[in-house]
Amino acid sequence: MTQKNITILGSTGSVGQSTIDVVLRHPDRFRVHALSGHRRMEKLAEQALQTQPDCVVVPDDSAAEAFKQFFGMGQPRPEIRVGKQALAQTAADRETDMVMAAIVGIAGLPSALAAACAGKRVMLANKEALVAAGSLFMDAVKTHHAELLPIDSEHNAIFQCLPTAGQSLACLEPAGGVDRLILTASGGPFRTYPLDGLAHVTPEQACAHPNWDMGQKISVDSATMLNKGLEVIEAHWLFAMPADRIDVVIHPQSVIHSMVQYHDGSVLAQMGNPDMRTPIAYALGFPNRIEAGVARLDLVALSRLEFDAVQVDRYPCLTLAYEALRQGQSSCIALNAANEIAVAAFLERRLPYLSISQVIEKTLQWEAGQPQSSVSSLEDVMYRDQQARTFAQALCQTDGSSVSQRVLNA
Ligand code: NAD
Ligand code: MG
Repeated sequence: MTQKNITILGSTGSVGQSTIDVVLRHPDRFRVHALSGHRRMEKLAEQALQTQPDCVVVPDDSAAEAFKQFFGMGQPRPEIRVGKQALAQTAADRETDMVMAAIVGIAGLPSALAAACAGKRVMLANKEALVAAGSLFMDAVKTHHAELLPIDSEHNAIFQCLPTAGQSLACLEPAGGVDRLILTASGGPFRTYPLDGLAHVTPEQACAHPNWDMGQKISVDSATMLNKGLEVIEAHWLFAMPADRIDVVIHPQSVIHSMVQYHDGSVLAQMGNPDMRTPIAYALGFPNRIEAGVARLDLVALSRLEFDAVQVDRYPCLTLAYEALRQGQSSCIALNAANEIAVAAFLERRLPYLSISQVIEKTLQWEAGQPQSSVSSLEDVMYRDQQARTFAQALCQTDGSSVSQRVLNA
């Protein structure tokens, strides 16, 4: 068996750690070429000692120093590369066959795009890349014959349920016989929380997801269901499906990861325990199935699967995301940028939970009034992202309870 070289961007995060877990189960199949981390240098050093990569990428010189300290002197040290450019270059390294794009937020776009432009197998966890730059990204995949495999559990499930499963997305034509895509959503930690109590929920409560153990940003996105909104946009780009043929249904157990409805009435679902190692192993082994370390699904112990309609007053962010998708790319960029700013402010206790959707709504309104021009390059995307961030940041600037009022008045 020929060993594949893998680069894991965002290896210190939740998806990154799960990827290393699966990779280490298959030393005959995979070898780590590169790892990257932004903050937790102790974790990155520990991962480098475990996986012995050729290189690691860190954000700046002080992070490089910290990495050296934690790595110690005992073993040959990997090459240390520094900065954003190095991140994108590493994603395109000749030595690497597969790139796990698991950086959070728009920060992950340039490196994910670089991997696509270099024709790699791109295992895409970073949904923000597709939300902000869907057309650019999918074009790069096609033009450079990259192999795109979705890691987001819903999209990985849909990929498995499509008639074209067994082919990579680069050659996925609009799938014959498909009526709709049905994304499942757990509803997050506030699914049954009293609506009038939501004004006072804390970051700790928002991050306590009932089924999945994830990074902080995506955990808050799951609570507001902006995450599902980002996933609707992601599904639109991955599967060439219009917004009005992508549904969302609440499924509190998170066992059915998503479904495809066909014209003949068939609905195909992909099931499994909520563990990211399943979609990660699927993408790593594709088209083969490999061991992931995931517990077998016990249907009898589970006993029932429940479904419910989405309460729109509880999750205004989902409606905003559908609106942004209908508006076009600039709105999707603004949606994502405003959300990143608002969630960071909420996590720092500078913004109340309910103001997250208000910041997004105001930013989308602001964006609609801006002169519209085509968004055809990475630079265009990053420029518009920055503009929207600046606007959203101004909305979040005050601290304390006056923030809600300020956002409402903007
Ligand atoms: P996380 O916060 O746990 O990890 C994020 C990683 O990105 C870390 O390695 C961090 O060092 C790195 N990073 C953060 N900011 C960076 C920057 N400015 N530049 C370079 N690197 C940076 O996040 P996560 O939960 O692992 O999610 C990663 C991505 O995968 C997100 O886009 C998320 O939406 C998506 N995703 C995650 C899950 C999950 O179960 N965690 C499921 C589906 C999709
Ligand atoms: Mg998901």
